[in-house]
Amino acid sequence: NEGAESVHEREKILVSVRLRPLNDKERARNGLSDWECINDDTIVFKNNLPERAMYPAAYTFDRVFDCHCPTSQVYEEGAKDIALSVLNGINSSIFAYGQTSSGKTYTMRGITDYAVEDIYDFIERHPEREFLVKFSAMEIYNEAVRDLLSSDTTPLRLLDDPERGTVVERLTEEIIRDKEHLQELLSICEAQRQIGETALNETSSRSHQILRLTIDSSARDYAGTENSSVLAASVNFIDLAGSERASQTLSAGARLKEGCHINRSLLTLGTVIRKLSKGRNSHVPYRDSKLTRILQNALGGNARTAIICTMSPDRSHVEQSRNTLSFANCAK
Ligand code: ADP
Ligand code: MG
Repeated sequence: NEGAESVHEREKILVSVRLRPLNDKERARNGLSDWECINDDTIVFKNNLPERAMYPAAYTFDRVFDCHCPTSQVYEEGAKDIALSVLNGINSSIFAYGQTSSGKTYTMRGITDYAVEDIYDFIERHPEREFLVKFSAMEIYNEAVRDLLSSDTTPLRLLDDPERGTVVERLTEEIIRDKEHLQELLSICEAQRQIGETALNETSSRSHQILRLTIDSSARDYAGTENSSVLAASVNFIDLAGSERASQTLSAGARLKEGCHINRSLLTLGTVIRKLSKGRNSHVPYRDSKLTRILQNALGGNARTAIICTMSPDRSHVEQSRNTLSFANCAK
């Protein structure tokens, strides 16, 4: 029954849109937003001029969050169930997609923190199980993978492991002692990225960041019987490169190379997500980019995916906002 299957598949990708507030500069300049969220699931362009009739006036998603929604609500309604499925042994990915300055990092940071709180809450409430939590962090810049937990900047290679799929060779995987330890590592990653940002002229807008928590658990062996229910899965928090890179043609030399690679990762992600959301068994080109190779086990199959598309309300960003909504439309 193809219909039932595609409905089932579609439920695995939760697509939401978050509109950030106007910032001070934008407010001072014109102070207007043309976008309005209605009915919790629809975003409307209020000033659809006749010459712009080629664009839809309204877009509907699983959920839309207006500029007054706190990140806690975005987490609860747009990411929580999917992130916490890691505790049931199901892999998942939570993405922030959008142009630079639309709120990806702001949103992912909050979501990661809320998820960590909930995961440790769960662990505390289940003393009958034994948990092993591991953390790794990487950045993909120019199709080169870098370990965010190591000072060594040598690009890491991807290997195909017959059992585990694509593995990032020599990637640091820290065994987490407690919540505080994990929060410490998250701060280190954030600092690492900020250094990169100033040193390499806003690298962060051109790189993808993946934070990965891997959780193994098993029933505690009080009675000396065999442990039967062993669960193992990862949840990935992905702060994507600015989506303007996917549409912008850069000039020559290094910038062009950079643009091409980022193009490839974001475009491949778009293709992969689109194919998965259609729920068809056609070829999914995971292998076409580093990002999708690394995330292959956390996309498709049994895995669950949430995509939070962040949007600037400002008039000067309307074209990029349209692009973001088109991407979101293809993903749902
Ligand atoms: P991106 O990562 O997409 O480039 P940022 O997350 O860095 O964008 O956000 C750009 C700026 O807007 C930051 O100063 C951030 O604090 C602010 N910002 C983004 N989203 C929100 C929001 N929902 N509420 C308040 N401020 C926000
Ligand atoms: Mg950012």
